[in-house]
Amino acid sequence: MNKINKTDKEWKELLDSQTYSVTRKSATEPPFTGKYLNVKSKGVYCCICCGNELFSSESKFNSNSGWPSFFEAINDKNVTEIIDNSHNMIRTEVVCTSCDSHLGHVFNDGPNPSGLRYCINSVSLKLKKID
Ligand code: FE
Repeated sequence: MNKINKTDKEWKELLDSQTYSVTRKSATEPPFTGKYLNVKSKGVYCCICCGNELFSSESKFNSNSGWPSFFEAINDKNVTEIIDNSHNMIRTEVVCTSCDSHLGHVFNDGPNPSGLRYCINSVSLKLKKID
């Protein structure tokens, strides 16, 4: 996979302020505000920063968490999981393998068969629709 390396200054120029805060500084969009929360269109959710394919709409489900949720990543290469000890919690952060964009976190309370819930910020995503 091509690794994308841009400076913080370059990302700041490319992205709007909320997208920059979430993707490059690991902020979280307020729950129930994201544009993809209730979207059911078919397609592939790609990284807003670099276009890397991250999640299929086929794995999207309604978790009632306030963020778009997926029970699996599109594959195990495009998405990287990192132990996150911030905010006095032990969580697993999910980032784009290609550009290190912060996407969200993955939890173990998802539906079967994966049992996983990828809790992802809408602003980190761009849906490439399939007709
Ligand atoms: Fe990316």
